[in-house]
Amino acid sequence: MDEFSFIRSIRQKTYRQPSLIKGIGDDAAVFRHPTADIVTAVDTFVENVHFSRDTMNPEHIGYRSLAANLSDLAAMGATPLYYLVSIVIPKTWTAQELEEIFYGMKAIAKLYKMDLIGGDTVGGNELALSITVFGHVEKGKARYRSKAEQGDVVFITGTLGDAQAGLYILNHLDEDFQGKQYFINRHRKPFPRITFSNKLNEIHRLALNDISDGIANETAEIAEASQVTIHLYDEYIPIHPFFNQFSLKHQRKWKYFGGEDFELVGTVPKIDWPIVETVAVQTDTKITKVGYVSINDDSIGQVILHGKDGQQERLEKDGYIHLK
Ligand code: ADP
Ligand code: MG
Repeated sequence: MDEFSFIRSIRQKTYRQPSLIKGIGDDAAVFRHPTADIVTAVDTFVENVHFSRDTMNPEHIGYRSLAANLSDLAAMGATPLYYLVSIVIPKTWTAQELEEIFYGMKAIAKLYKMDLIGGDTVGGNELALSITVFGHVEKGKARYRSKAEQGDVVFITGTLGDAQAGLYILNHLDEDFQGKQYFINRHRKPFPRITFSNKLNEIHRLALNDISDGIANETAEIAEASQVTIHLYDEYIPIHPFFNQFSLKHQRKWKYFGGEDFELVGTVPKIDWPIVETVAVQTDTKITKVGYVSINDDSIGQVILHGKDGQQERLEKDGYIHLK
């Protein structure tokens, strides 16, 4: 299949977003948004670095890649609009498999009324996907990591460590596990917290970050950007009821440093916590208070983990760091 018939095959027949002026078919796409702030992000996924064909079908690769980008929009409080896909295609991938990748992306795009409005298609040695997303947010309402303040409540959506547990299960398929399919799905089809974060729009001040690299890293990013100390209580970190079946070493590694759960961690003033609780009920989102924000001179920019018996340790950033 040549580049042109490939583009024809992935092109949407109709578009959903009213702000679109020009979609696929010219040198670039055009859309118009006179009143909103536009939020954009790009992420790249490379075979055998970010995913493997052994544990993901092509459809999952597409779904998960776009879900990861949507999670960044959720962390900004933005509503998704458009995406562009740059793809490097090796000869070893069939037309059918490539269509399945786009099928996966389109499945999650549809949930959020997103349109595919452009991209680039080139040949190469390893499959790589680079996805750019656009979203919009009410003027001045983008959610920054730098917005945490002393006294804020720290909360997390969903449960942590599940995606890594799912990957572990996929690599140990001959063993028995409880909730096998649940954990595998959490790895292959993460659920970006778009609806939840969008509905928090009436909160005046809110810091948000999505958990792509593990809670240790993500909270440290908020602590550094806001110049505060973040305190987390080990016993409150939300986990799935079946998470206890894994070794304590794995549990700790996955829930603090595992990442790819694409949940959100946020901080809000105490007075706004009831709004978060209401939105959580409205959007059927599990939320858990896990700690608080302080300003201790000797630990600015750090995350302090409190154990059950009152012991404290500094939670080091220890997620996967590229090019380290
Ligand atoms: P140009 O040569 O002007 O860069 P292309 O021939 O690369 O244009 O692309 C033609 C059209 O197809 C453009 O609208 C481009 O955005 C779109 N397109 C190309 N590859 C992809 C892709 N992988 N996904 C979505 N749209 C694509
Ligand atoms: Mg081109």
